[in-house]
Amino acid sequence: MAEFRSAVPHVGESRRLIIIDISPQDGPRNLIVAVNPEIILRDGEAHEEEGCLSVPEYYSRVESNACIKVKYLDLDGKEVVLDCAGLLAIAFQHEIDHLDGILFIDHLSPLKKSMCRKKRKKTMAHNQEIL
Ligand SMILES: [Zn+2]
Repeated sequence: MAEFRSAVPHVGESRRLIIIDISPQDGPRNLIVAVNPEIILRDGEAHEEEGCLSVPEYYSRVESNACIKVKYLDLDGKEVVLDCAGLLAIAFQHEIDHLDGILFIDHLSPLKKSMCRKKRKKTMAHNQEIL
């Protein structure tokens, strides 16, 4: 499974901020900080396996766009338009969904969603037993 690390801090009401890092785990960091990101073009289909810190220990294939064009402001307030494909495109879509209150499991079929809920309950019960 492809990996990316990111965070979605809440910084006031008018700013939506995501931080994406798709650099290899043992390589130098390459953070992309995107303020008010917006997908302005979508193309193609991707079916990558995704996971999320918000839904621990659950992974599933998710349909998304293979290529996107994203517009955002960098930390200096300069407008950036970026063509993304592969892991970067998936990371942007995943994180922008978070900003809109959507989790990757919201893209799954009702059956897969309920499997995820069951697994989550089991994991939470198990974690309480450990505590
Ligand atoms: Zn996530």
